[in-house]
Amino acid sequence: MQREMRGTVLSEGLCIGTVVKLPHKKNKDTREKIPADKVADECLKFKDIQETVYQKLQALIEKAEKTDDSAQAEILKGYVAILNDPELEADITEKIKTEHDSLPTALFLTANEYVEDMKSLEDEYLRQRADDFNELFSMLLFCTDPSSDRKTPLLVQKSVVAAHTLTPIDMAELDKNMLLGIVSQTGNKTSHAAIIARANGIPMLSGIPYDTVKNGDTVIIDGADLFINPDADKIQSANTKHTILQKEQQSLKTLISKPAVTLNGLRVELKANIGSPDELPKVKEQNADGIGLFRTEFILNENVQTAPSEDFQYGIYSSVLKAMNDKPVTIRTFDIGGDKQYPCFPIPPEENPFLGWRGIRYCLDNPDFFCTQLRALFRASTEGNLHIMFPMISTENEVKKILEFVGQVKADLDAKGIPYSTQVKLGIMIETPAAALIADKLAPLVDFFSIGSNDLTQYTLAVDRGNDKISALYQESHPAVLQLIRKVIETGIKHGKEVSVCGEMAGDSALTKKLLNLGLRCFSMTAVNIQKVKREILSANIEFAEKNNEEVQ
Ligand code: PEP
Ligand code: MG
Repeated sequence: MQREMRGTVLSEGLCIGTVVKLPHKKNKDTREKIPADKVADECLKFKDIQETVYQKLQALIEKAEKTDDSAQAEILKGYVAILNDPELEADITEKIKTEHDSLPTALFLTANEYVEDMKSLEDEYLRQRADDFNELFSMLLFCTDPSSDRKTPLLVQKSVVAAHTLTPIDMAELDKNMLLGIVSQTGNKTSHAAIIARANGIPMLSGIPYDTVKNGDTVIIDGADLFINPDADKIQSANTKHTILQKEQQSLKTLISKPAVTLNGLRVELKANIGSPDELPKVKEQNADGIGLFRTEFILNENVQTAPSEDFQYGIYSSVLKAMNDKPVTIRTFDIGGDKQYPCFPIPPEENPFLGWRGIRYCLDNPDFFCTQLRALFRASTEGNLHIMFPMISTENEVKKILEFVGQVKADLDAKGIPYSTQVKLGIMIETPAAALIADKLAPLVDFFSIGSNDLTQYTLAVDRGNDKISALYQESHPAVLQLIRKVIETGIKHGKEVSVCGEMAGDSALTKKLLNLGLRCFSMTAVNIQKVKREILSANIEFAEKNNEEVQ
């Protein structure tokens, strides 16, 4: 009998295949005590299994690196860091020594403590990291009882995997050439498995209860829809759609090496947005003209409890600049606050976080933190073509203060004889209506503008960008938003400053021609959208574009 249901799209796509279910791995609740004279042996056993798991992780990292799966490799390296953390060993052996718990018991109890701690955190991303701990402990527990049923099945034919919770280890063990799609009960966009699925172009849906499908079922994943044992007509129409999509992918691939030039010869820059260096292979694959937005607040996830050090940041920024080989790299200073809360920078609860202590407001009030990032950025600037961008600007005074801090940081580096590039460009995000309306005053202070259409839309229309109930009112092409965008572009042209759009609308090919007609010549988006937008540009003729008033009606 055909059934269908909807899930949450974690990785967009369409696939048809047979289900292979992964076992639902629950760590066994063991409560065993050991005699006092076995304590030392039990502690040594931990060392043994720690080494075994370490070797296994290293093998998986090597496998991921060999197939250029950098997203997978980075996540596994995070596991190695947890495994080698002396605190982990101390917490486990403490239970063996003081409570005389057996090793499996000590592992089980410590796992529960860690996972409960993580789950109680407010930050969604960190709560999801509880799965990482669970998985690592379950690998350790498996070594204490290899008969337990936690093996990831070998895929012998192309399959759709169904899981309760899909972990990065599962993703590392599964042969991705055989993996057509994934459905899981748990997980959200920031789950590591979802990040890996997106990086590998594998469709993934969550919110599908584990018992919904069984081994051998035929399923279709089509965006948010899951069809279980569909009838022949449905399979045929899905196959047809799949073939069309594949052809489209193939034809888009042929555009990769082409520059984005309109029919009337205007060159348009297409850059990529990233949140971590892991995304660089995709950026290069799409032949982006540079990075138009690196959201640095996303690196805070990796350094959870303490503010990231200057050296840690320097390492990340310089690696991105180096990898982009002198193509422009726009790195945005931390845009924390709003919906982006991090334990290392606690912000007291606010009535309206999106109107609160966010972005540049937080940074200017925390000069140590702000200058640490600026120092790391300027030090890294010798490695490539750096543009630094500041978020959430609403006044001229904020920009003046930023320039003062930049001056101080440069003077400090000069005094210490630390080199930096003198070519660094400084720009601001135009994402508040206030900034758009005073763009004329802001332009002389900076080198470039980048329009944050996501926030500009929410602030102009008074529509919370994350509120599903009013999502129909959230329209980036609302005339009010477009009029502001046009004003910013015109102001940029008047002052000879580059203007780009780096919000989601830049990657929406349905809006490409509209933006071109408003005078936009630089778009920055998720790398996978670049060729679709390029296709629109290649067929556009925008000779009289800047005068076009129809676009903003
Ligand atoms: C934007 O607001 O459009 C933008 C690019 O910034 P973020 O989505 O990170 O707020
Ligand atoms: Mg924004």
